[in-house]
Amino acid sequence: MPFGERSPWRFRGSPLALEWVAGGWHLRVVQPYRATKLYRCPGCDQEIFPRTLHVVVWPEGNPEQRRHWHRSCWERRYAELERARELEQRAGPSKKS
Ligand SMILES: [Zn+2]
Repeated sequence: MPFGERSPWRFRGSPLALEWVAGGWHLRVVQPYRATKLYRCPGCDQEIFPRTLHVVVWPEGNPEQRRHWHRSCWERRYAELERARELEQRAGPSKKS
């Protein structure tokens, strides 16, 4: 499990693919030996160097929106998204009152 025992991430796909889904997001772990290019992480705006373990994330069903992230940056962003969603749910379905 990439994110610990209490992680909401559910394993999807074959073990070698290292793909996960949660909250409408699809995540793929990129192993260092498969990371051959330089990417820019949208979380911290720093470079992800080749041969670095990182993750590729996209909204489920929209693989063309895939972005490469540092794993810790995505974990932080995902926690923010979860918090926002929790607040939204607490506010209730109607935006009144
Ligand atoms: Zn980053």
